Amino acid sequence: MDTEEPMACPARITLDAAQLAFFDALPTKAPSVQSELGCELERGHEGSHAALGQQVEATMRWIQWTLSASEINPYTWCPTDCSLFDGHPGGHAPSRC
Ligand SMILES: [Zn+2]
Ligand SMILES: [Zn+2]
Repeated sequence: MDTEEPMACPARITLDAAQLAFFDALPTKAPSVQSELGCELERGHEGSHAALGQQVEATMRWIQWTLSASEINPYTWCPTDCSLFDGHPGGHAPSRC
């Protein structure tokens, strides 16, 4: 795992069986999603936490969660040079190397 970036949100989520089954059922050759994911948004962001679950070409599936609920939503990339989804809260994240 990467060392924690000081500006990253510390929230984490463990996917439940139904969510893992959802990813397993996607017709992709993408590697299996990890069962535990960390929020990739800026520390102190508004709204739901978000972690990239799976990416197939231009479409990504992000897990978004709050203290009480979680859901999986499709997104495209943020239009700037950024590794987050279009419309994400908080500041932009530099592209992954
Ligand atoms: Zn977060
Ligand atoms: Zn962005």
